[in-house]
Amino acid sequence: MKRKFALTLALASALALISALPVFPGEDQDHTCPHACKPGKFEMMHATGVNYCVNCALKNELNAEVDCVKSGHQTALKITKYISFCGEEKPEFNGKTYFYFVSEAAKPLRTAHLGETVTVSGRLYFDLPVIEVQEFKVQKPEEKKN
Ligand SMILES: [Zn+2]
Repeated sequence: MKRKFALTLALASALALISALPVFPGEDQDHTCPHACKPGKFEMMHATGVNYCVNCALKNELNAEVDCVKSGHQTALKITKYISFCGEEKPEFNGKTYFYFVSEAAKPLRTAHLGETVTVSGRLYFDLPVIEVQEFKVQKPEEKKN
């Protein structure tokens, strides 16, 4: 009887310890995804949104001292819909802006498609506002209505 009590106590302590561990945003403790995501660090996802220039937006809205004609645009994705590769929709990303890692896959997003609605697939880092683009699709105008 005493032994059973001690076991129960040990189990309860272990559970209390596990539940007291800090949970970081985006972290899923029961994460068992096949996409090699690292809970709390990065996740494979599809993000739809507008590809826009942050510099131009800040210049227009807040009169920021930037000159994209001289320096080039600084494009980023303003997310309107986020779905992880595992199919979990995460509305907490809606309205957030994420930049693209400089890469060949992201190059067309950085040099063209300004103001267009795109769906970007790749790895999103939770601690940085950065997406590692694997591929992307430009939405056709008729798809934008939906
Ligand atoms: Zn610009």
